[in-house]
Parts: sequence; structure tokens; C-alpha cells
Amino acid sequence: MIVFDNKHTPGSSEKNGEIRLSSRAVSRGVAIGKVVCLHGQTRQFYRLNLADSQIDRELRRLSAAIRLTKKQIKAIERSNLELGNGKSASIFDVHLLILEDKSLIGKVESKIRDQKVNAEWAVKIVLDEYISTYKSISDEHLRDRYIDIQDISDRLLNALGGGGKPSIHLKKNSVIVAREVKPSTLIELNENMPKAIVSENGGWTSHTFILARELNLPAVTGTKNILRQARTGDNVIVDGYNGLVILNPEDETLRKYKEAAKQFKKVRHVPIKAVSGNPKTLDGREIIIRANLDLHSIYGRAKKLGAKGIGLYRSEFLFNQYRGFPGEAEQVEAYRAIGELVGEDGVRIRTFDISVDQLAEETSEKEKNPALGLRGIRLGLSHEAEFRAQIRAILQASSDHSIDIVLPMISDLLEIREVKKIIDSEKRSLGKKGIRVGDPKIGAMIELPAAVMTVEEIAAEVDFLNLGTNDLVQYLLAVDRDNESVADWFKTLHPAVLRSIERVIGAAENANIPLIVCGEMGGSPFYAPILIGLGAVELSMNINSIMRVRNTIVGIAYEEAREIANEIKTFSTSAEIEDFIRKSFIDKWSHLFDAQLLNSR
Ligand code: PEP
Ligand code: MG
Repeated sequence: MIVFDNKHTPGSSEKNGEIRLSSRAVSRGVAIGKVVCLHGQTRQFYRLNLADSQIDRELRRLSAAIRLTKKQIKAIERSNLELGNGKSASIFDVHLLILEDKSLIGKVESKIRDQKVNAEWAVKIVLDEYISTYKSISDEHLRDRYIDIQDISDRLLNALGGGGKPSIHLKKNSVIVAREVKPSTLIELNENMPKAIVSENGGWTSHTFILARELNLPAVTGTKNILRQARTGDNVIVDGYNGLVILNPEDETLRKYKEAAKQFKKVRHVPIKAVSGNPKTLDGREIIIRANLDLHSIYGRAKKLGAKGIGLYRSEFLFNQYRGFPGEAEQVEAYRAIGELVGEDGVRIRTFDISVDQLAEETSEKEKNPALGLRGIRLGLSHEAEFRAQIRAILQASSDHSIDIVLPMISDLLEIREVKKIIDSEKRSLGKKGIRVGDPKIGAMIELPAAVMTVEEIAAEVDFLNLGTNDLVQYLLAVDRDNESVADWFKTLHPAVLRSIERVIGAAENANIPLIVCGEMGGSPFYAPILIGLGAVELSMNINSIMRVRNTIVGIAYEEAREIANEIKTFSTSAEIEDFIRKSFIDKWSHLFDAQLLNSR
């Protein structure tokens, strides 16, 4: 059950061939299907068995990918030489030699031809063999060559993505099983409508699972060693309510779960009853609910559920690693389309919140800590041409639509001032060309400890604040939100988090500017009452959370939420806070919260 931070104790059991693996539930629902194992890190793929008629085409795909990879390497080599990095340029010569190695490429081609498999699979298998051979060499210098082959393998797999769609589709009933699923992979696979996701790694606030919840796709994570136990084609049950994966289920188990899956399907397809107006607590406090949006197509549902516009539009979902930044015209069109859909309720477009590892052209400079690296506004300011293009696109789209700008990963007032200068200069130059522009409001994501500590100054500089609790927890507690092994340290109810939230809400109130809580916390029926008690009046959330949070809001009294929020200030550990909240919820709101569920940890 997804209650608070949903602790999970890994474990497995086996009976009559049925394997049960306990997992962390991260997106509700039940699915029964067939395993499809995903491999690869940057570009994810699965093994496909090809028909004879598809082999030649697959060989041509491989040749094209090799040509593209060579071209990319030569371009990086040139720019390194221009920067005076002669030494690193010689590494690229080695990479080019690997790509010209007839024996290696010949093996990949034979694999495709003889085993009738897709190019991704052949590249992976053959290059992995080379990697393990090099790794076992005793000479240290030669041994390290495996890194170059690994690099080429990644690049080739990336190039096979080619920015296009996968050429062959997933079968119906596919349950994606992987070490980790990237959001871009999920978007790509979603066209084939998988049934569920099972991963070893990733947390409640990982973008992949935020997206899974948006898509109503059951998902579990923390499923240890799943790739060692599951084979493509195995029967599998995914229980995204209780955090359980069942491989090769027995007939009796299947029968039981078929009923549960049927129920889930029913719930999933129930037509939404249109709701209007903002929900009010029992004692009359009005709470504004907005939607977080990653995929345009879903806004219609949010509107029906009474969402007032989009509090967070993650523009990076327009970004495609294989194509790079979307062009200005494409962005104008996308922003206009969303502005049109949302109407006067408005949309807050967050500038690209990507990290450098998502930029294919720079994979040579892998960062050790991408979350602390060149990402968010830092990447924007260091890729100024692309950043300016995005600003111009938003300015143009906002001429006829209610569109505002949110800046991600702000750590310093100076970043906001720099962006404002860029916005002003782009406004002027568009104006000179006679192009109409709007006057979007500027807001900052408050998601870094430094932003919390200076929130009063930031609030004086911007028109609104967006509180990003996902990253706030990650950075305050130094706990990677995508890393399953530290997921138990991801404590949303840590006193440091709650005190930060209170400070940010207070700063917005004092500066008289709006504040939206847009992290996953706002979309949880368990956390929303706490945020409301701390003074939040605007919550922006995953579309599929709206109904549950609305129902919670109309069933609680603000004064009671405030009492709870005041009381938790006196505790110094998250464990005490969680216990107190559990007791208080059962005590005050047993009509909303299931006691058994709240006590289930
Ligand atoms: C957050 O960090 O809380 C947030 C809303 O943004 P994202 O999840 O995209 O990092
Ligand atoms: Mg964030």
C-alpha cells in the first residue's frame, strides 16, 4: 500500500514453481501478463525474434547506427581538439578503430543473421562478451580497454534509437521488467500499452513512476534480482497495491488475481464524473487543485476532475535524447496547444529540467553525480542558445494564452536575475521584429536547501513559488530519489522537511505571492492534510491523484489539520511524527483512512 513513504522489506518465497517477490508499490493497480525483460542503460531495449524478411532491414539499421556513431565521435573529437584537449582526442581514435574492427562488427552481423535477433540485442551480446574478455586480462593497461568498448556499446545502442520509434512492437499483455526504467523508455513503450512495470531500482518520486501514475499503469520497484529470475515470456502478476510480484503463478493464484485485475480494469475505465469548483474543507477552507502535466493528452481528464489549470508543466518531456532540444517553432506550437487546452486557468511551464547525461552529444563527459551536476537552470544558463530559444517560444505562446514560467533548481537569487535579463532581452528583440509576445509571470522552484534558506529574498524577486518536495527531500536529506537502496531514508516526514515547508509557505504569505506545492507530496491523500495544516492552499498533482485528494479535503476540517501540523513541530524524528500522524488520522478521520492500512508497517 502506498502509505507515507511506503517502507518495504525485500524478500522472496517459492512454492511449486511460483515465486513471490516482495516489492515497493509505487503505482496502484493489478496486472497479469507476460514478462518482457528490458536491457541497456542509456538506450533500453528488449530481445526480438525476427522473421526472415526482417533481417536485411535490421542489418541496414546496424550500418546506419555505425555511421551515425562515427559521425558523432568525429564531431566530439573536433571540438575537443579545438579546446586543446589532444589527449582525450586520441581516445576517440581508439573508439573509431573499434567501430572499424571487421571481426567485431562481423560478429554482430552474424548474430543478427544466424539467430534472427534485433540489432540492439546482437550489439549487446557481442560487445558484452568483448567486455568480459577484456575485464579478465591481467595487464592493467589492456584490461582498461573494456571501458572503451562499453562506451561504444552505449553509443551504438543510442544510435540504434535514432530518434525514431522502435521498429517492432511489444506484444499485448507485456509486463516490463528491468533494472531501471527510464522515463523516455516508458514514453516510447507506452505506445504499445504495456500492462505494468517491475523494476529493481527507482523510488516513489522517480519520474518514471510519476509518469506511471499519470498513465494509470501498475508499477512496483525494489524487486531484488528480478532479472535473474524472470525470463521474457514468463507469466507474471504485478500487484501494485500491496507491492508484490508473482512469477509463474499457480492456477489458484491466477484465479484470485484475475478477479482483482478485472476490478482494476473496471475502476480504470469508469467514466469520470465531472466536478467543478475548488474543494473546501468541512470548516470552509478552500483549496485550489491544479494538475502536474507531462503528457498533453491527459489534460482533458484533469479538467473534468476540477483541476484549475496546470501548476507544473514538465517541458523536458518534449525533449528527446536522440533528437536533442526541440526547435523553437516546435516549442511554440506545443506551448500554444497546451495554453489553448488550459484556457484562462493557465499553465506554468517549467524550463527544461534535464541533466547533462540526458544530452546525447555530451555523453563523453559522464558526471559522477548528475543530480548535483549541470542540470535544471544551470544547464539552461550554460546552454544559453537553447535556453533563449525556449524563452522565445514561451514568450510567443504566451501572447494569446495564460502561460507563466517556472525556473527549476534555483539555488541563488542571481540565477533568477540572470534569467530575467534574458527574458527582457528576448522580449525586446522579438518586439523589434514585430513578433507579438506575452508577459508571463516568473516563478522559482523551491527544491534546494539553499533556496529554502533564502526563500524570503527569492519571494521578493519572483511572482510566485512552486515548492518541489521531491527534490527538496532528496537534497535536504542527501538521499537519491532514484536509488532504491536508500529509499528507506527518503523521509518525507523528516522534521527538516516539514520545517522547510513551513518556512517556504510563510515566506510566500509574507510576500503576498502564490505558492503551489507541486511535488508528489501534494498528491498523496496522506500528506495533503499535513500540507494543508501547514498552511498550503494550492496543490498541484498527478492527474490520477486528484479525485482521492479532493475526497480527503472535503472530509477533513482545516482546524484539525492545523492542530496536527502544530503538534508535529514538537517532534524531532520522522518516526515520532509518523506515529503521531497515524494515531491522529485514525482518531479524527477514521471515515477517510483505513486503520488497518495506516498501521500496516
Ligand atoms: C519536485 O522536485 O518536487 C518537482 C515537482 O519536480 P520534479 O519531480 O520534476 O523534479
Ligand atoms: Mg524537481
